[in-house]
Amino acid sequence: MKAFEAFVRQWNLTPDDVFPVVDRFPFRISEHFAGLIQFPGDAIWKQVVPDERELLDAGGWEDPLAEEGLSPVPNLVHRYPNRVLWLVSHECPVHCRFCTRKRRWSDPIPLTEELFQAGLQYIESRSHIKDVLLSGGDPLFLPLSRLDAILSALRAIPHVEIIRIGTRIPCTLPRLVTHRLAKTLARHHPLYVNVHFNHPRELTKEAREACRRLASAGIPLGSQTVLLRGVNDELETVKELLEGLLTLRVRPYYLMQMDLTKGTGHFRTPIATGLKLLAGLRNRISGLAIPHFVIDLPGGHGKVPLIPQQVEGIEGEQLILKSYRGQRVAYPLLEGESGELAGMLKAVQRSP
Ligand SMILES: *Cc1c(COP(=O)(O)O)cnc(C)c1O
Ligand code: SF4
Repeated sequence: MKAFEAFVRQWNLTPDDVFPVVDRFPFRISEHFAGLIQFPGDAIWKQVVPDERELLDAGGWEDPLAEEGLSPVPNLVHRYPNRVLWLVSHECPVHCRFCTRKRRWSDPIPLTEELFQAGLQYIESRSHIKDVLLSGGDPLFLPLSRLDAILSALRAIPHVEIIRIGTRIPCTLPRLVTHRLAKTLARHHPLYVNVHFNHPRELTKEAREACRRLASAGIPLGSQTVLLRGVNDELETVKELLEGLLTLRVRPYYLMQMDLTKGTGHFRTPIATGLKLLAGLRNRISGLAIPHFVIDLPGGHGKVPLIPQQVEGIEGEQLILKSYRGQRVAYPLLEGESGELAGMLKAVQRSP
């Protein structure tokens, strides 16, 4: 609360507006991230400063992805057959107001030794689990020795092929990404790190250095960006962010539609916004910089990628496609191909 009081004073906030919000959804910010704010209401501010709309949100669910129900062991979400999401950390240096797991901020479930062993045991006894995704909270916010112990325990399980870490530390507290951290992670290859950046202003000198350290340790980097109203829902902003990430050797992976989390409704953009952004990026920036635009389905049914419609239809033995400039271009089909394809396209286009 002290940090918040200092923040309130610094920015002349009206405490009555924000204190009730902070009671329910605590405030937290790192000095680094606070330093990126240029003026109240800017793209950084909106991501971290409590807003009364968080309490007024009539829609949404506490746990829209049904993670608690899909956890055979607390903190271990098993939604897809061959991979699990393990919430190994319950803290982050910054509380992003749009966070899907904000339900846990005031009621965290720390990974006790008992839960750690239970989670390990669950993974160990299921040889079809090949991919373990560590998240939280922020796994890179754990003490390094603790993180190393978790990674070593996972690496001791022969059927765990891939380890992934989802983190916002390179963006929110980049100085934690030391050579030592990078070297420690690199001892557990194949290990992928997925960083979370939402705005080009987050690509600071320090963030660049953090990504450079990880990439130089041979860690493949991907990114996820949450599409946020008033923060990054314009083409120029997303373009600059994605191109910037690519120069940091980060391959953009997911652009995520807002989850239906209670207290985050004011961040939500129309689906058409994401589709228009993708259409605006396609063929205009490097294909390497273009992420999948996904909706994580409510109820825990998994992620679904959406792509802007570029198929116009079938005419005779030709597929009619729309180019990125809007021209109609015919692509000749193989003999006898059109029947099956028409059926598939009808399934896609059966909207009205
Ligand atoms: C997103 C997610 C994964 C990983 O999905 P990919 O599409 O393979 O990146 C795994 N488990 C859960 C519960 C997830 O939410
Ligand atoms: S860093 Fe991730 S887990 Fe932590 S508050 Fe932000 S969105 Fe939530």
